[in-house]
Amino acid sequence: MNNYVLDTCAFISGLNATYKGKFYSVPSVIEELPQSSMARLRLLTSIESGHLTIIPSSKKFNDEVIKTSKKLGEIGALSKADLQVIALALELETKGLDPIIITDDYAIQNMAEHLGISYSSLATFGITYEFIWETYCTACYKVYEQECKSIFCQICGTKLKRKVISKQARRSLV
Ligand SMILES: [Zn+2]
Repeated sequence: MNNYVLDTCAFISGLNATYKGKFYSVPSVIEELPQSSMARLRLLTSIESGHLTIIPSSKKFNDEVIKTSKKLGEIGALSKADLQVIALALELETKGLDPIIITDDYAIQNMAEHLGISYSSLATFGITYEFIWETYCTACYKVYEQECKSIFCQICGTKLKRKVISKQARRSLV
C-alpha cells in the first residue's frame, strides 16, 4: 500500500484522499488553507472519514530539512507547511514506509530529489491544471514575483507569504 504525503496545493487542486493508500499531511497545511474554503472543508472531511492522518513533523526532521533547503537555496521558495510536509515525508522514509510526496511545487520536488524521497505530480491523480503562485507581504502588501527567493519583504522586512492566485490548464499530461 502506498503512503502519500500531501502538500497545500494537493488540497486546493481538489485531490480526493480516497485513492488506495494512506494519506498524510501536517497541521500547517490546514493553517495555509483559507477559512471556509472548499479545500479546507475537503481536508477536514478527509480527516473525519479516516482517509487522511495529520501528523506534526518532529523537530529533528524539521531541522534537517531546513538545513538542506538552505544548502540548495530553496529556503525562500518554501513555506512553513512545505518544509513540514518534506520533514514528515523524511520521517516516514526513515521508518521504512516509502512515502510519496504529492506536489506540483518545483522547490518541494527538488528537495525530495536530494533527500531521496519519492514524489509525484498531481497529474498522476488526474489533476490537469497547475497553479500560479504569488508571494506578498502581509504588512505593506508589496507583491513579489513567483520565483522570489527572499522570505522577507525588501521594503519593510516582514516575512512574506504565498497564495494561489489562479490556475491554468497543463500544457501536457505526464
Ligand atoms: Zn512589506
